[in-house]
Amino acid sequence: MAQPPVPIRCAGRPTLGSLVIPWITLHAGGRYLFGALDKDRRDRALAERRCQVCGQSFDERICLAVRPADVYAGYTAEPGMHPECLAYSVRACPMLSGDATRYRATPASSGLPGVAEEGHGPRAGRPADAFDAWWITPSSYCVKTDPEHPGQLLGIDLDVPVLRKRPIRPAAGLDLDSLFALARQALGLEDTASSCPYQPDGSPQPHNTAKESD
Ligand SMILES: [Zn+2]
Repeated sequence: MAQPPVPIRCAGRPTLGSLVIPWITLHAGGRYLFGALDKDRRDRALAERRCQVCGQSFDERICLAVRPADVYAGYTAEPGMHPECLAYSVRACPMLSGDATRYRATPASSGLPGVAEEGHGPRAGRPADAFDAWWITPSSYCVKTDPEHPGQLLGIDLDVPVLRKRPIRPAAGLDLDSLFALARQALGLEDTASSCPYQPDGSPQPHNTAKESD
């Protein structure tokens, strides 16, 4: 497969096999470990509102890669991305491109001392999840903290207005929700414009939540 073009923003990032190494990728044991998160970098990206791929500040649009389980939990543990950095990741990352059908059975950081495996354990060896891309504005980009441990950053709040949603990849294996969602989109039944809060006709702003007060 041809290597995807590297976004200008990522031109200064280190590469491995000509693939850009994301800003939050763990560097341990003298090498970068694709697929393993550096928890400190993740927390900094969340707190300092940096893109998880290039490490730079956001502009007027922020993209999130969201799994159904994230929607259920109400947040995504991973920081946002610039639209072009997500577009690059969708082509370069096997988990987002759909090439990977399962999570690693053994973490990339397995055996390295002092490396947290947080967030990996429950998914190890399981079929890959479906991912959607969400576009939100900087004003909707809010970090959720653990109510019982206020210093602990859970991730990005998903209970916010969403400008646009697009499927990135379906789940591996039989996931009826994903299949139905793809079928709806293929049949043109998915009205993606309805999630845009900037309606040109001045109609009320729809939410992705059921909390409208009017
Ligand atoms: Zn970026």
